[in-house]
Amino acid sequence: MPSFSAEVKNELAHFNETNICCIRAELSALLRMGASFVLNTKHHMGVNFTTENAAVGRRVLAFIKGLCIGEIRTELVVMRSRRLQKNNHYTIRVMPSKVTNKLLEELGFINGDGSGFNMGKDSALLSKYCCKEAYLRGAFLGGGSVNRPDAGYHLEFSTSNYEFSRQMLNLLNQFGFPIGTTTRKDNYVLYLKESEAIISFLRMIGAEQVLEEFESTRNLKEVRNQVNRLVNCETANLQKTVNAALRQVKNMTLLLKNINISDLPVVLQETAKARIDYPDASLSELAQILGVGKSGVNHRLRKLEMMALQLKECEKK
Ligand SMILES: [Zn+2]
Repeated sequence: MPSFSAEVKNELAHFNETNICCIRAELSALLRMGASFVLNTKHHMGVNFTTENAAVGRRVLAFIKGLCIGEIRTELVVMRSRRLQKNNHYTIRVMPSKVTNKLLEELGFINGDGSGFNMGKDSALLSKYCCKEAYLRGAFLGGGSVNRPDAGYHLEFSTSNYEFSRQMLNLLNQFGFPIGTTTRKDNYVLYLKESEAIISFLRMIGAEQVLEEFESTRNLKEVRNQVNRLVNCETANLQKTVNAALRQVKNMTLLLKNINISDLPVVLQETAKARIDYPDASLSELAQILGVGKSGVNHRLRKLEMMALQLKECEKK
């Protein structure tokens, strides 16, 4: 069974994006999350983008070609995992060339003024709302993860690039997401922990189908919690009933040992006997056996218990 992250990514990787501005923004974030860069002796840069998800790899390739910068040489390398249950890795290599430099300039990695490499400030790509959403989609596809809701609510982005992580934080704050931050090994981690925030984030970046699963699992989880609460409550009530019945049986037995039963009014005689004969019966069952109302039985039992109590008091003196 694929992980929930993989399911989300599979859906997002097929999100139909046709705006060039958004393709640029999404591709930029994809590469920021999942790529490393190489420089050859001619000062031409190349890109190695690695992902566990074949569909994400195909999307990156399609986007690079779709931007029509010029003739770009790419290569796909599949690293098969030797260990069972470990995913394959797909690496897309964009060979260093003049055109690749142009691509990276268009994506905001190389500053147009020749001042070098831009570590993570993509404000030029993020002026439009549509592009901000696309950028977040790219970041998730490139290195985000999300738990299946029954495993606890958690969505995160993890990156070793501090500047990029600050930009992501800023962007997510702009959308009002309650983002938490932490570090793990050498990585900066941004995370969401609230189910509502995770749902609205996934909806915003275009994961509609998996959301249905997410929401129904969440609802099921809530119903299960409610049922558990009810069951716990009922168990507590049941325990109370059992304790009361045990106490009543003890008191009735004590009473009948010490007084002549025929001295009691008939209704009390019947009630005391019924209590002793049916120690497991609830109050309403006892009422049914005796053919009276619940409050009537309750009243009689209380009277009998009072008598037993008085008896105990007398014994003490
Ligand atoms: Zn756009």
